[in-house]
Amino acid sequence: MPATLLDGKALAQTMRAEIARRASDFARTHGRKPGLAAVLVGDNPASEVYVRNKRKACQEVGLESWLHRLPEAATQSELLDLVARLNADRAVHGILVQLPLPKQIREDAVVRAVSPLKDVDGFGPENLGLLVAGHPRYLPCTPFGIQQLLVRNGVNLDGEHVVIVGRSNIVGKPLALILMQKAPGANATVTVCHSRSRDLQDITRHADVVVVAIGTAHFLKADMVRPGAVVVDVGINKVDGKVVGDVDFDAVQHVASAITPVPGGVGPMTITMLLHNTVEAARLQAGA
Ligand code: NDP
Repeated sequence: MPATLLDGKALAQTMRAEIARRASDFARTHGRKPGLAAVLVGDNPASEVYVRNKRKACQEVGLESWLHRLPEAATQSELLDLVARLNADRAVHGILVQLPLPKQIREDAVVRAVSPLKDVDGFGPENLGLLVAGHPRYLPCTPFGIQQLLVRNGVNLDGEHVVIVGRSNIVGKPLALILMQKAPGANATVTVCHSRSRDLQDITRHADVVVVAIGTAHFLKADMVRPGAVVVDVGINKVDGKVVGDVDFDAVQHVASAITPVPGGVGPMTITMLLHNTVEAARLQAGA
């Protein structure tokens, strides 16, 4: 029997309706909408699409959104000046600096410059530190979305062995931290693998839940998955003009008990969690 689909599109819709209600409550109480400022440097076509989609999602749930553009040749200090202005602007509750940045700008300097209370991507050192310490404030959006996709589909993580393939700062590493929290919807036993891991297949075959986030089309094969395991595919790859994930979906769906599709799995959850974090940021900054 093919695996149950973990439908990120449907869950994102449900969660966006909840977020819209909270945004409208906030606007009624505080006389202004929660607001997200996006910063786009240069003209990377993929970044243009990401930012457009994020702004559209903001409008759909009743959040204010602004777009600040800087040219490809912008200097680091010009960008830091803009971030400082947004940090000081009381109408702006969340700041999203779209990555990657042109090479003359140090990403870590910019990420660190965003006020921790407005760091709705959750990439800054204060928010990551809070997560490591077990007192999370804003969770990074993609791993937060993965956790919600699992938990809200009834996947019990407590005591389960989750194997994450990929250790990036935006997916694998923060996901491990989220799933090992001593908290409901977490409490997993987590193993993190990467390109230097030996005997990967032996490790993934011992997982109750396998998450793949490496950026290689169809990497996870059916013989790398224990029958009945849950499989989460984070990858976004283009093959012959088609978007495919890191999992060999056609084969793995006959081994797994539940699986995320690509597209329509993790992708829609990422923007949803950004909206969630922006409303949380507005509430925190308003002392609500
Ligand atoms: P990175 O390139 O930053 O990291 C890739 C990770 O995969 C690294 O840790 C790397 O190991 C590991 N890796 C690469 N090849 C192998 C291998 N053969 N075996 C084991 N590990 C391997 O990627 P990201 O985390 O940014 O993104 C991963 C994928 O997820 C991409 O396809 C990206 O497009 C997608 N993505 C999707 C999002 C969504 O919303 N759906 C959001 C973010 C990303 P090492 O550290 O040793 O180099």
